[in-house]
Amino acid sequence: MVEVSILQKGAVIGFTTTIPVEVIFAGGYTPCDLNNIFVTDSNPMQYIEKAERDGFPKSMCNWIKGIYGVVMKHPVDAVITVMQGDCSNTQALTEILRYKGIRTIPFSFPFDRDRQVLQREIEKLKKALSVKDEQLKAVEEGMSKARSALGVIDRMTWEKRLVSGYDNHLWLVRASDMLGDYNRYNSMARDFIEEVKSNKPKEGVRIGCMGVPPIIPDLHDFIESVGGHVVYNETQRQFILPFKVMNLTDRYLKYTYPYGIFSRLEDIQKEIDRREIQGIIHYVQAFCYRTVEDVILRETLGIPMITIEGDLPKPLDSRTKLRIEAFIELLSNAGDAA
Ligand code: SF4
Repeated sequence: MVEVSILQKGAVIGFTTTIPVEVIFAGGYTPCDLNNIFVTDSNPMQYIEKAERDGFPKSMCNWIKGIYGVVMKHPVDAVITVMQGDCSNTQALTEILRYKGIRTIPFSFPFDRDRQVLQREIEKLKKALSVKDEQLKAVEEGMSKARSALGVIDRMTWEKRLVSGYDNHLWLVRASDMLGDYNRYNSMARDFIEEVKSNKPKEGVRIGCMGVPPIIPDLHDFIESVGGHVVYNETQRQFILPFKVMNLTDRYLKYTYPYGIFSRLEDIQKEIDRREIQGIIHYVQAFCYRTVEDVILRETLGIPMITIEGDLPKPLDSRTKLRIEAFIELLSNAGDAA
């Protein structure tokens, strides 16, 4: 067990994917999703370049290199690394971070979704951060208000179509750390809801985006520019934990992302029907083991789907643009003919 209770209150605790962030807040620390720092930076390539200068291979997922680069350039006080339920590269990343003197705290989601095992992992995290149940309860109540505002933004995207696919992506993906302050994020989200109420509803083909959040910055805007509207960002929506459960363990048991493709499929099917999605864009990351899941999605979803691959945090290349445009045109013509 890594004891980090010697960290000062307010210390920044980074993490490599969504974890029970309530525990970090309850300990009086500031959570920081390292993925978001990487991909929202005005120059994300600097982090990849740093990783490659330090010996990371070209043939490795750039999210991992980006996370490493962020930790090297903006030192955090500790990093929670998710050893199971996220990425096959995390163990190697943890080793190199430890080697570089970064304090790491392992956390695992059990592959078989075993409640007792998850509860034990959460208890270990609470102990490592010296968190008491009373502190946790207050945080959970505060965060549920922010999550409910984010649920409204999501609903306004697919039901009233007042929110762009990119704004939906951004609000939901940042739910993993709520920019380090859930009260402030809640009030920012409520202001945004007021702002978009007067928007003109969007039109166009209803698209669902599946897979890991894209490293490509202009994906959603490009889809919109060629007649599509992303009404479902699968993984980003999971980050808001859109479940009516107040128990911490049960909430993270319902969260689908860490438990493999079969746990995700049921949720995806339900959302395809509810949001009347006409076509799926499955985003995969170069060198990611999750790419294999494409086979299962393709054979089970039962609606048109294309797969696009991203590598660097750079705008879409012209070939991928052409493929997306042709896909949306096809769906649009099919809709007209129906
Ligand atoms: S995209 Fe895949 S390989 Fe890259 S960090 Fe995420 S899970 Fe790991």
